[in-house]
Amino acid sequence: MTQSLAQSETVVLLVEDDRDDFFLTQDVLQCVPNHKYSVVWAGSYERANFELLERSYDVALVDYRIGERTGLEFIREAGRRFPDTPMILLTGVIDPHIDRAAEEAGAADFLEKGAITPELLDRSIRYAIKNARRRAILDAVLSNSAAGIVALDRSGVPILWNKQALRALAIEPEAVAAVTSGNVSEGLAKIRSDGRLPEQFAAATGEVFETGIGTVPSDGQVIVFHEITHRIRAEELLRKSVAEAEAANMAKSSFLATMSHELRTPMNGILGMARVLANTPLDHEQGAYLDTIRVSGESLLGIINDVLDLSKIEAGHMEIENVEYRVGDLVNDVTRLLAPTARAKGIDLAAFVDPQLAGSTRGDPLRVRQIITNLIGNAIKFTEEGGVTLSVDAIESGGAHQLRIRVNDTGIGIPEGKRDRLFKRFSQVDASTTRMHGGTGLGLALCREFVSLMGGHIDCDSTPGAGSTFVVLLPLSGADAPDRSRTRQLSGWRMALIGREGPLANVIRAYAASSGATMDLLACGPNVLQRLGPTQSTAIIIDSNAAKSARDEIVRLIAGERGGTPTPFFVIADSVADAGGLDIDPDLLLSRPFGQQAFERICNRLRRRAPTTVARGTIAPAAGPQRSLKVLLAEDNEPNQRVARAILRGAGYSIDVASNGHKAIELVGQKPYDVVLMDVNMPSMDGLEATQQIRQTDAGRALPIIGLTASVMDGDRQRCLEAGMNDHLAKPIDWDTLIALLNRMDTEVYGTQALAS
Ligand code: ADP
Repeated sequence: MTQSLAQSETVVLLVEDDRDDFFLTQDVLQCVPNHKYSVVWAGSYERANFELLERSYDVALVDYRIGERTGLEFIREAGRRFPDTPMILLTGVIDPHIDRAAEEAGAADFLEKGAITPELLDRSIRYAIKNARRRAILDAVLSNSAAGIVALDRSGVPILWNKQALRALAIEPEAVAAVTSGNVSEGLAKIRSDGRLPEQFAAATGEVFETGIGTVPSDGQVIVFHEITHRIRAEELLRKSVAEAEAANMAKSSFLATMSHELRTPMNGILGMARVLANTPLDHEQGAYLDTIRVSGESLLGIINDVLDLSKIEAGHMEIENVEYRVGDLVNDVTRLLAPTARAKGIDLAAFVDPQLAGSTRGDPLRVRQIITNLIGNAIKFTEEGGVTLSVDAIESGGAHQLRIRVNDTGIGIPEGKRDRLFKRFSQVDASTTRMHGGTGLGLALCREFVSLMGGHIDCDSTPGAGSTFVVLLPLSGADAPDRSRTRQLSGWRMALIGREGPLANVIRAYAASSGATMDLLACGPNVLQRLGPTQSTAIIIDSNAAKSARDEIVRLIAGERGGTPTPFFVIADSVADAGGLDIDPDLLLSRPFGQQAFERICNRLRRRAPTTVARGTIAPAAGPQRSLKVLLAEDNEPNQRVARAILRGAGYSIDVASNGHKAIELVGQKPYDVVLMDVNMPSMDGLEATQQIRQTDAGRALPIIGLTASVMDGDRQRCLEAGMNDHLAKPIDWDTLIALLNRMDTEVYGTQALAS
């Protein structure tokens, strides 16, 4: 059948064994108005088959009788072989069963010969052709569909299906034409379970299909099968890969944990011995070599720690603690540690901690410390002139309190377009500065990870050439609400700073504002005393750098030459030797970096309103005082014992050493120690068990015990606390932190005044 033929004329095969009837029907067709029918006669069953094979017909009119055979038989057989040619049954007899029989055989229509008119025949043929075309289109759609489709009638009998559906139902596709409705029903029954179609099933071929069901208007159903074998395999592969990757990650984490232990233990020896060596007589060249060892060792340790932290975060093993700590103590430790680097570069470093935060705060002090250390470290690294100001306070937004940490520098700044790189791993803003300053590009990435694990936020604001400010916001729990009772403690006082704008002035201004005092900044130089004005209720704070240019006037001031009541004053210097050559009472000396402790000393003094002591004689030597605190170190590793002995003795402490847990218990029973530094991993009896046993004794019940471990596993600190220890320090030991801790204890227990703290 061709489109053009169908439009211009309709070619009809008339299957009729009676010649007269043929002419009769042909005449009827010739009488159809406005359309041309061309009719070919097939007088026998065989001839009709031959004609259909030879050419394509738009329609076949089939008589009910064809010789010995029937038209129904012909339609059933030829209809299957030539589905594109619709067949209409013509009958002379009136039999009520013929209608149904014709439909079952696949006839497009059935007409009674005696009743046909040109219009009736024309309409029947047009409808038959139109339906056949629709059927052809539907077949094409079905056979080209990637999905398998089976349509069921309202009683659930399959009436339509395609090759893909047969594949899903494991019915041989070569035999599509021969497939019956019964075969499809059987196939469906096989995949149904409890009468229901599964959402997904595997066919006998191993292919996996997903099923879907849609309804059709006459209450039937359409079942659709989608082949999803590839998707299922890909999912399985993905699951397997994820499991493998997780296993590999676990293996990596445990490898790193083990390696870290192995790497950190010798680092303890290297850094500790470098420190001990530095206290022995060395010539200039040897001192420089030793310094290189120390700096390289510390930077190697920093890299090891950063990489470990990142791998822990990646493996999801980074646990954030929630313990009580004092922000002021933490800031004090960090700034003290970084002060020598700032001093070496000739830049100033000062820290403000809002007195409202004097109480303890809950959080993860170790991570907060890492964040502040990194931000100040960077600020110092990228600043050549001016200085670095750290400011920590609490702000309120939406009824919730937040801890705000700001690190401001007057360094090279960061161009706006490059700020998005800041917090990415292994990324640096400018490779050339990195060559100059070193660094791995991990620090800020870690800061951001820590901050987000703590539920906070980090951001940076910067002006190239003028400096940068990094701001970290961390949530504060309700219990840590700022203590406003401390805001007016210097009410009525004026602070006169003789110095210049910079971190020190920023911080003293902030402290003055936070405690109800006022602050004036007096530029260094001559006539400073005239510019000072009345000195009543004034505390004079002298930046030792200023003392150099206005030395004489300040000496007069100190000597009380202005007459009247002596004015309280303080000198801020790196050390006694650096106090601008001023001969002053050590009590008046506030060591850099200026921070909370220095401010508290000012407050204590002003509150007592003690008259200022005028200089009297030379200042005590810079060496630390002899301490009273009795320390027991339990540590099996001999080089580490030597390092600890040398450093702690150098800091003025007497120290005994126990080489395992048993010895430690024995010594605690014999001597009244004030603190035990307890290595966790020791032969014969480890530090955890030793602590538990010490806690059982009268002497050890309340004895402060600090655990030391070189491992970086998350649970270490918890295990130490559970065993009864008071605190935990990671190895390699940060000696400055440990000594600061011991100094604080020493002051608390024996009231010793440390010159520099
Ligand atoms: P790095 O170990 O290289 O310092 P960071 O992640 O801490 O790694 O910093 C990434 C980069 O961000 C630095 O290399 C530097 O280019 C830039 N940067 C960080 N802090 C500052 C700052 N205060 N001033 C200028 N540039 C900075």
